[in-house]
Parts: sequence; C-alpha cells; structure tokens
Amino acid sequence: NQDWQGKHVTVAGLGVSGIPAAKVLRGLGAVVTVVNDGDDERSRTQAAELEAQGITVRLGDGATLPESTELIVTTPGWKPDKPLFTAAAEANVPVWGDVELAWRLRGPGAAPWLAVTGTNGKTTTVRMLASILEAAGLRTAAVGNIGVSLLDAVLGDEEYDVLAVELSSYQLHWAPSLRAHSAAVLNLAPDHLDWHGSMAAYVADKGRIYEGNRVACVYNAADPATEDLVREADVEEGCRAIGFTLNTPGPSQLGVVDGILVDRAFVANRQKQAQELAEVKDIDPPAPHNIANALAAAALARAFGVEPAAVRDGLRAFRPDPHRIQHVADVAQVAYVDDSKATNTHAAEASLAAYDPIVWIAGGLAKGAAFDELVTGAAGRLRGVVLIGRDRELIREALARHAPEVPVVDLGRTDTGAMSEAVREAARLARPGDTVLMAPACASMDMFVNYNKRGEAFADAVRALAAESA
Ligand code: ADP
Repeated sequence: NQDWQGKHVTVAGLGVSGIPAAKVLRGLGAVVTVVNDGDDERSRTQAAELEAQGITVRLGDGATLPESTELIVTTPGWKPDKPLFTAAAEANVPVWGDVELAWRLRGPGAAPWLAVTGTNGKTTTVRMLASILEAAGLRTAAVGNIGVSLLDAVLGDEEYDVLAVELSSYQLHWAPSLRAHSAAVLNLAPDHLDWHGSMAAYVADKGRIYEGNRVACVYNAADPATEDLVREADVEEGCRAIGFTLNTPGPSQLGVVDGILVDRAFVANRQKQAQELAEVKDIDPPAPHNIANALAAAALARAFGVEPAAVRDGLRAFRPDPHRIQHVADVAQVAYVDDSKATNTHAAEASLAAYDPIVWIAGGLAKGAAFDELVTGAAGRLRGVVLIGRDRELIREALARHAPEVPVVDLGRTDTGAMSEAVREAARLARPGDTVLMAPACASMDMFVNYNKRGEAFADAVRALAAESA
C-alpha cells in the first residue's frame, strides 16, 4: 500500500492493541515510533522485540509528540485529555484508534460489519449474533473483546461474509470514519465517566456507532436514550430504526409474545402476522437482560437477511462465556454464582434482579459510580453483604442509607487473598436456598489483573469450601 511507505506514524501505548498496530504499520512500510508512559521490565522486553523489527520505542515518555508525526494510532484506553492528544490537535495531526485503523485497512470487497455497543451485554450479544450467522451458513467471527482481534479479522487470511463486531465507547471515540452495515446500542448507563469526562460525552461516543449505517439502527425501546441517538445519527437513505422490547412489539420492532421472540420489523408488508423466531427457553440463561441481548442479536441478523430458523438454531447453540452469571457450585444447599464481569452498577443490577435471597459479594474500583439506585433496588432481596476492594466504602455508605437492616461484613482488604475470606464470610451469612452472588459492580484492577482472575479466585474459593464441607 503506497500511502503508508515512509509515513511517520506514532503509536500511543504498548499492550494488546498497540503492539499489533505497530507491527502492521511497520509491515506496510510506515516509519513507526511507539511512545509509552511506563518503563518497566515488561515494556522493555516488548520494546526490544519491536526494535528488532525496525520500530522505534520511547519508554517513560507518553506525553511528547515525536517531531515528524503525521498520524497517531492510539490504544483505545488512552484518555482524550492526555497531553499527547493536545499536542496532536495543535499540530493538526489526526488520531485513530485500533478500530479506525482496522476499518481503513480493510480491503476492497471486505466483509460488512454488524456492530454492537452498549454499557452491558456487548460480548454476549456479539457471540449470540455470530452463533446465529454461523447457523445461517455464513462465514463469520465474533470480533472484539473475545475471539478474533479486529486487525486479524481484517488483514488475516481467513475470508468472511460478515463480521459481528463488539465496540467499546473508547474505540468509538477514536473511530471517526467507521460505517457499519447495521448497528445496535443495547443500553446506556453511567460507566467510564472518569475517561469520557461526562455522561453526555460517553453517550455521544456510543452514538457514533450509528453514523452512516446502511440498513438498520437497532435501539432498546426500554431505554429512550438509545432511540434518541438513532434520531440524531446521520445514516444512509433507507436505513431503518428498529426497536427491541421485552413486551409485545410495535411495527418495526422485535419483541416477546407468550414466551416467544417475534419479529414485526423484517416481515413482508402484506404479511400481517409477526414472524416467530425462537422461544425464551431457547436462551441460556433466560433472564430478562439476556433476552434483550438475544433480541438485539436477532435484529442485526435479520437486518442482514438471516432466516428465522437460523435465528432459532443460533440462539439454541449459544452458551454464555465464563464469569457472566456462571453457576460455580452448590455447597450446603447454597448456590454460588460468579458474575465477575459485572464491573459496573448497571450490570450488577441485572444479576441481582435474577436471585432472591442473595448474599452479595461486592466492591472494587467504582470508576466514579454512585450505588444508591443499585442498593435501593436490591435491598429487599439481600440476606447480607460482604465488601472487598478499594472503593467498598461507597457501597457501605449506600447500604447504610437505603438498607440499614442488612448485615454488612467489611473485610477491609484489597489483597488477592481477600476473595477466599469473602467466600467464607458469605457462607456464614447464607442459609439453605440462598444464592451467594459475586457481582462486584466495580472493576477488578485494584485487586486482580482483570475480571477473569477475580472470577477464578472466587471459583477456587468456592471449590475449597466445597472440599471442606464434603
Ligand atoms: P460487556 O461485553 O458489555 O461487558 P457482557 O456480555 O460481557 O457485556 O456482560 C457483562 C455483564 O453485564 C454480565 O455478566 C451481566 O451481569 C450484565 N449484563 C449482560 N447483558 C446485560 C444487559 N443487556 N443489561 C444489563 N446487564 C447486562
């Protein structure tokens, strides 16, 4: 690709998206410099590997814009208010995220994208969508957080008919020219506000996913803010707004009637009846939030022309990923459920709504969230609460305000080992028939490398408990 020969590109940040981006750009002939805030042993090893490929790496200086930079490709996690971006704006240097890079590098005739964003349910929905597309005999992949990386999907040898793409608000922020075939915003609740600066900025970044859609903009009828985003988007002529609802659907909606998922949006005009797609009991787990995810996935698949039978088969074949409301074990007639992926209050609300009575294990990094609404909604179902992690104080205060009668054990710990004590305390509070639910409503990085490790620590502790009581 001629355009990249000798082009000076600065990659902001090493790590899971920075390293592959730097290599791809170097491979295209660009002159690549990686700038990285950190300068630890791990980044030095990574730097050595990149330097061997002719890439310059500046460790310990992520703020200075290298002289001749013509383009910045950033790791999506970098905050927009970083000095590097201020310098870029002053020098009129464009900034692309990994999604923008993949979008620009895709070849002619590349597979269209069916894109999904939202505060919660993205991974689940994208995996359901891929499962449906596969059932329809299409060559596809779930791309994003889980599965194939975007750059691999776009540049790899594998050929695809269509991609099911998960996009975060960070990625959308840095993806100005992305144009999906169709896209869905699942829901909007405060999250990552420390990164975006405000709820309005967060919502605006999510809304980018609808820009330039060709066939359908899928919104959540129970979350009017998602429909507002559709209205504000600049889409291709003929692109339709399609809603999903857990109730009886209106025209141009998918919904639920008597335990059956039905489509009233993609049916022939003369066909008055709604098209049946699948049964609620086909979905694992058949909890309300997950039926919403299934409807959104079905809407995108139907927008792509998938037949109802493939929607049903794909949803039946779908199994949830680990740490997403995953039943670990029963010990002494108490169920232990791992929802480590509930990294914000909106996600925890979904799993707290699914059980009663609950011993709730919560806490971690709050990311600027408030817990009043969550605690108020769950108060009547809480047998007790065990708190861990850095921002547990915020949850304890909310509990004191809205559920003063619920016993709270504050472990006052932020070390990895705290999880096993938390499970023990939870077991002490629980009675037969209860559910111990680890749905922290917080990010995990104060105590663990990521939510996977947090979930594994919980499962290990539950297994140890089971072994003792056996
Ligand atoms: P994401 O990729 O957006 O983080 P996941 O599909 O991994 O979403 O699910 C993360 C968590 O969010 C789940 O464990 C569950 O607690 C919750 N969740 C999933 N779908 C929804 C939804 N539609 N609405 C609210 N919460 C949800």
